[in-house]
Amino acid sequence: MAGVSNFQITPLLRRGELSDLHEKVAAGTRISEADALRLFQSTDLNGLGAIAAMACERRNGRHASYIINRYINYSNYCILSCQFCAFARKKRDADGFQLSVEEVVGKAREALSLGITELHIVGGLHPSLPFNYYLDMLRALKALDSRLQLKCFTAIEVLHLAWLARKTVRETLEELLGAGLNSLTGGGAEVFDPGVRQKIARGKESADEWLDVHRTWHQLGQRSTATLLFGHVESLADRVDHLRRLRELQDETAGFSGFVPLPYQPENNRIEVDHPPTGFDCLKTIAVSRIYLDNFEHVTAYWIGMGLKLAQLALDYGADDLHGTIVEEKIFQMAGVSGRQLQPETEMIKAIRETGRIPVQRDTFYQRIKIWETPAASTEVAEPSSPDAGSRAEAECP
Ligand code: SF4
Repeated sequence: MAGVSNFQITPLLRRGELSDLHEKVAAGTRISEADALRLFQSTDLNGLGAIAAMACERRNGRHASYIINRYINYSNYCILSCQFCAFARKKRDADGFQLSVEEVVGKAREALSLGITELHIVGGLHPSLPFNYYLDMLRALKALDSRLQLKCFTAIEVLHLAWLARKTVRETLEELLGAGLNSLTGGGAEVFDPGVRQKIARGKESADEWLDVHRTWHQLGQRSTATLLFGHVESLADRVDHLRRLRELQDETAGFSGFVPLPYQPENNRIEVDHPPTGFDCLKTIAVSRIYLDNFEHVTAYWIGMGLKLAQLALDYGADDLHGTIVEEKIFQMAGVSGRQLQPETEMIKAIRETGRIPVQRDTFYQRIKIWETPAASTEVAEPSSPDAGSRAEAECP
């Protein structure tokens, strides 16, 4: 009997721990940084998940999305040596690579036959490729299929290209936009705190520079995503500070289409981490992000970093998107993530449907392309959208 009564009482007590925040979110009131820290410090994962699921359902109903995309890394040569990075190579390394524009187009052509709507293209800060290489690549991909959405480059790549081209960030982004770039990726945000950046990514752009690249892109009427690399040397307060800066920029520009928390991968790099992110931590981080980032429409559970099984579970903890079918994602692969680099669409649909949600194929800007109302039948909704075709309210990285 004692065991039964403990089992019944404990969840009630724990739910009470967060009941004031549950009420706050239910009333549509924005939570503070102190509230977010309290959520991170709580061990009441289910109480936290219930609040996050409520916030998610209010925005996205019972729909959960995925995208049919392909990753292409054009090169892993990089002039920097971020401590956490297992991807970058120097010219002397035997496993360094760089693709010609023709090779990139060849990979894109293959992927188009699989029905992709998006190419996600990032690389290292290449020591010698000229600015024209990037412009030619974008133009050649658009010439292949003008509907293909090109989500390319992290903020640090943009800064590198600006330096190469001897242009301002705005001028560089305008040229990339003119050549066919549709969205910036959210990569490279890592953790904004300068002390943490110094420990994991010395020499990389500062938080202000990362935010300024995205601000400028948004001011051009364009959209991007944002990330947080969590579970290494940062504190919970550092995570909250990172989310705060993203929320502030989103208040200013409304240019972020979604948020993608990335669990740190501990293998093959130079940072010693005692407690890399667990399943518990992944779910908690997704839940707190969903609750705190009340001006972001979408939160992604990045299956390649946490596995499809945990990403599926994250749909009950505030995520509304599983990201992409993805072929060949070298960055996480080289960081030690094992397993498949391709998730068939049927597996994504099954994973979403099992949670009681309606699967939706989306485009880069989270516009719905296909809604799978029943297991057998889908409703075509739209072609992939252009950035200004969808509303901003509806409407990722080394
Ligand atoms: S994280 Fe990016 S900038 Fe840093 S070493 Fe790796 S590829 Fe280069």
